[in-house]
Amino acid sequence: MIQARNDFDNTLVRHSLELNRVTPDTLQVNVGKLCNLTCIHCHVNAGPKRKEIITGETIDRILGWYESTNIGTLDLTGGTPEMVSDYQRLVSTVRGFSQPRRVMTRLNATIIEEPGYEWVPEFLAEHKVVVVASMPCYAPENVNEQRGEGVFDASIRAFQKLNALGYGREPGLELDFVYNPNGAFLPGDQAELQADYKAAMKEHFDIDFGNLFCIANMPIARFASYLKREKLYSDYLQTLKDAFNPSTVDSLMCRSTISVSWEGDVYDCDFNQMLGLNLDGQDAPLKLWDVDLEALSETPIRTGPHCFGCTAGAGSSCTGALA
Ligand code: SF4
Ligand code: SF4
Repeated sequence: MIQARNDFDNTLVRHSLELNRVTPDTLQVNVGKLCNLTCIHCHVNAGPKRKEIITGETIDRILGWYESTNIGTLDLTGGTPEMVSDYQRLVSTVRGFSQPRRVMTRLNATIIEEPGYEWVPEFLAEHKVVVVASMPCYAPENVNEQRGEGVFDASIRAFQKLNALGYGREPGLELDFVYNPNGAFLPGDQAELQADYKAAMKEHFDIDFGNLFCIANMPIARFASYLKREKLYSDYLQTLKDAFNPSTVDSLMCRSTISVSWEGDVYDCDFNQMLGLNLDGQDAPLKLWDVDLEALSETPIRTGPHCFGCTAGAGSSCTGALA
C-alpha cells in the first residue's frame, strides 16, 4: 500500500494505483548543464555559462558499473551532451561492450552548426546512435520564440545533414523529434501532430524522421520561473492535476529508468534530479557505482506535485505520450 506523502500520492491512492519499480531497461545519464542555447522551457536551466559537466573519472566509474548490468539502453541527456569532452569516448566504449547497448543522444541539433562540432553527424552515424532531437514546431517563429533567434534555420540545416547520412531514412539510423508546447498548455494528440510534422517537414524542407514524441512542459526550473513571471504557475499546475490520467501510471519512466547526474548521483528521473530530490529515504545522493539493483527495486519512487506533468492527458515521458 502506498504511503501518501503529497497530492500526487493521494491521487494515486484515490485511483487505487501504486507506483512501483520494474526491472530497469534504461540508464539515463545527464552529462551536465552546458548548452549553446537557453530555451525558455528548459527544465535543466542549461546554458553556455554552466560549469557543471561530467568528468572523465566519473564516466569511468559509470562505465564500470554499467557494463556489469543487463540494462539495454544508455540515454544521454544534458545540456548538450556532445559539448562534453569525453562524449565520444563514452559512446564508443558502450557501443564496444561485449554485450553492446543501444545508445540514445538527446540532440540539440543546432550544435552541429557550431564551429568545432562538425564531427557530430558522422560520429553519431558511425556508432548507430539513436538521435532524439528537439523540434518544438515546424513554424520558424514558434521555434525561435521558445529556443532563440536563428534556432529554426540551424536545426533545419542540421537535420538535412543527418538525413543525407541516412538518419531517418535507413534502417539502424533512427531520428526522432521531440515536440513540447510553446506555453502553459498540454500537447495535442501525438499521432495527429506527427502526421502534420511529417507532411510539413517533407514538403518545405525535404526532411524525413521516424517518431514525434510529445512531451509536456514540466513546472520546474526555467519553465517554472516563466510561469511565475507570467502569473500562470497555479493555473498550469491545476491544468495538469485536472488532466490526471490513471492509465499513464503503468508506463511512467521512473518505473524502469535509472537517472544519473553529471556527478554520478542517482535519482528517480531527470526531473527529480533537477529538483535535488534524492532517492526516498536517502539524506545524501547515492552514487551509481554503489547501487545494488535488487535493493533499489525495493525503494519507493519519490514523488511530488511536478509528477502531474507526467500523468496529464496522454501522459509524458522521454519517449512521448504514454496512453
Ligand atoms: S532545452 Fe535542451 S537545448 Fe534548450 S537550453 Fe535546455 S538543454 Fe539546451
Ligand atoms: S516526475 Fe519523475 S518521479 Fe514523478 S512521475 Fe514523472 S518520472 Fe515519475
